[in-house]
Amino acid sequence: MKDFGSALWSPEEALRIDAAILASIRDAVIVTDMALKILAVNPAFTEITGYGEDEVLGKSPRILRSGRHGREFYQAMWASLLESGHWQGEIWNRRKNGEIYSERLTLNAVRNEQGNPAYYVGVATDLSQLKLNEERLRHLVHYDPLTGLPNRLLLEARLQHTLERASREENRAAVLVVDLDQFKIINDSLGHAAGDDLLVAVTHRLRTMLREEDTLSRLAGDQFVLVLEALHDYQEPEILARRIQASLEAPFILPGGDKAYVRASVGISVYPQDGVTAQALLIGADSAVHRAKERGGKQFCYYTSEFNVQARTILALEDALRRALEQEEFVLYYQPKIDLRSGRIAGAEALLRWQRPGCGLVPPLEFIPAAEKNGLIESIGAWAIREACRQMRVWREAGLADIKVAVNVSARQFRGGGLEEVIVKALARYGVEPRHLMLELTESMLVDEPEDAVARMTALKRLGVRLSLDDFGTGYSSLAYLSRFPIDQMKIDRSFVNDIVTDPGAATIATSVIALAHRMRLGVVAEGVETEAQAGYLRQNGCDEIQGYFFSKPVPAEEFAELLRQGKNLPVLEASPQSRTLLIVDDELPVLAALQRVLADEGYGVFTAAGGREGLELLAKNPAQVILSDQRMPGMSGTEFLSRVKVLYPETVRMVLSGYAEMEAVVQAVNEGAIYKFFSKPWDAQQLRAQIREAFLYYEGVIKPRRESASGL
Ligand code: C2E
Ligand code: MG
Ligand code: MG
Repeated sequence: MKDFGSALWSPEEALRIDAAILASIRDAVIVTDMALKILAVNPAFTEITGYGEDEVLGKSPRILRSGRHGREFYQAMWASLLESGHWQGEIWNRRKNGEIYSERLTLNAVRNEQGNPAYYVGVATDLSQLKLNEERLRHLVHYDPLTGLPNRLLLEARLQHTLERASREENRAAVLVVDLDQFKIINDSLGHAAGDDLLVAVTHRLRTMLREEDTLSRLAGDQFVLVLEALHDYQEPEILARRIQASLEAPFILPGGDKAYVRASVGISVYPQDGVTAQALLIGADSAVHRAKERGGKQFCYYTSEFNVQARTILALEDALRRALEQEEFVLYYQPKIDLRSGRIAGAEALLRWQRPGCGLVPPLEFIPAAEKNGLIESIGAWAIREACRQMRVWREAGLADIKVAVNVSARQFRGGGLEEVIVKALARYGVEPRHLMLELTESMLVDEPEDAVARMTALKRLGVRLSLDDFGTGYSSLAYLSRFPIDQMKIDRSFVNDIVTDPGAATIATSVIALAHRMRLGVVAEGVETEAQAGYLRQNGCDEIQGYFFSKPVPAEEFAELLRQGKNLPVLEASPQSRTLLIVDDELPVLAALQRVLADEGYGVFTAAGGREGLELLAKNPAQVILSDQRMPGMSGTEFLSRVKVLYPETVRMVLSGYAEMEAVVQAVNEGAIYKFFSKPWDAQQLRAQIREAFLYYEGVIKPRRESASGL
């Protein structure tokens, strides 16, 4: 302030100017005498501390003490003031209302005219507001507002840090990208708020999987990233990926009461072999997760350097493909499609293989993308159509019944000009009836320009061939267009079939597609059927045809002819509808045996399973009307099992046997309608028999449920 009183102004003016400054600055100013009696404060002091001038004059600044600093703090302050006449630092003080705040305080000793210290002047900036804003800003810049997880910026910084440490310590680290399959469907069907709730719930589950030092972050939408530090074991990322997938498997109950099923794909990149920078590892894990999704989702993939090698060999591949056409290195394999009602072979899908010299049989997904890129696919695809027609002719001449063959058509082939002409010529050349040829189109090639697609499909239909919509459920076709596509058949993608028996989410999609197809008067085929249970479930739910390894892998034409000649078929087990069938699930074999004894003379067909998964498999193969499950079982609890059964087989009557310790889960299951009744262990044989008899009557619609007796025996 001394400068202000310099030659420019008279001492009085200088004083007035000083006073005006004091009154207008936002920092608190406090003046005391050497005995620390307050002589003056400015308006900002009042604003910050809450004390009016009249309340503090003559008092000591101690009234502001927060109690957060020890004696040493004040001793150091005084030592500095006495020695140099100056102190500056951050200090916690207490406002009149009790609130503690931090301020940056500058204290100066001011000398009188004789040159002796006479006053102390303190100037203080309130930091609490500043800190709050800074904190908020830091948070906004570094964290995702929805889940509170670090965002990409912070993730990259932390990852870089991890890599530096890993390099110093010669350790490995891994990046896992977790991508929720089908999240878009949940978002679209339940709304964005539910989608947000789900992401938060997923975040909670993922958090519990991590060690303290690992980082979890959300990149965007439904993508999460995990950074694993200091890997001890090569398999650690893989084990974690599996655990994550398993932990997301149990349904999520959203605040609105909706249940959501989530499945996740995971992509993994490992430091240092897949990259040494944060960027490289993130890109690697990202392409790996895409691959996992392409393979049908719900799996994990390592990045591995294969990818780079692939990029380098792509040119060589294109060259080789060109030669392959000339040298006739392509061949068609045939996979039977089975009619689920008759159990007989209804047709075949022709699947391309490349007998590449020195490489064995190359599957189509390894070369079709390249062929699609350079345009060769049009010639290859035309060859496939001609070859399929030729084969139909050969089979007919060999005396086999006319067999319908489906050929896959690529996007480029579909959009390019010559497809109709290729078909017309091939049919004519081999004398094949158009209705025996089917073309498989994928959803993805129809959604971009649906108007255009409808026109092209209509033109194909005019030739008399049939059309099938392949891989249904993996794209996002709009229902509005779906009804306008002139198709004859839908194929449920194998990613849904895969878990159809155990995952209610997948089962719901599959049964919805079946219902939708039938409402549109289309046939429906399930692809990738690998087990008897899957086939059973699809049969129970009215699917028309199945295709998959369960019946047969794709085989060479001659072997396919052999299947036809032998009349290989799928045994059609018709469970007699009248019989009363009961499924009992318990992990303790003696309990299972005891229950079977209790129910021995009741005349039911009884199936038993030792756990939820086995129970679901059994149900797919053998329908049961009443299900009795133990609650406490490893892997899947009884209520979880019955909740799945509720979605998969809604008409069943479900009951649980439980000890008192598991009551909470049981009550919740009752409230959700997942179970009809519960019994407490140990049971009373006579009453158990009566209750199960009642359950069958309830199933048969003979009686209404008596909920008041729900507490069982
Ligand atoms: P797609 O048309 O969906 O064919 C079904 C694929 O699932 C085939 O793979 C088949 O071998 C496989 N598959 C069948 N049953 C099972 C099963 O039970 N389990 C499992 N895990 N897989 C099963 P493939 O032969 O490798 O063909 C892959 C894809 O390549 C085909 O998918 C199709 O999109 C394409 N493709 C095949 N042949 C041709 C062709 O001639 N032209 C064009 N443009 N694409 C073709
Ligand atoms: Mg196909
Ligand atoms: Mg398919």
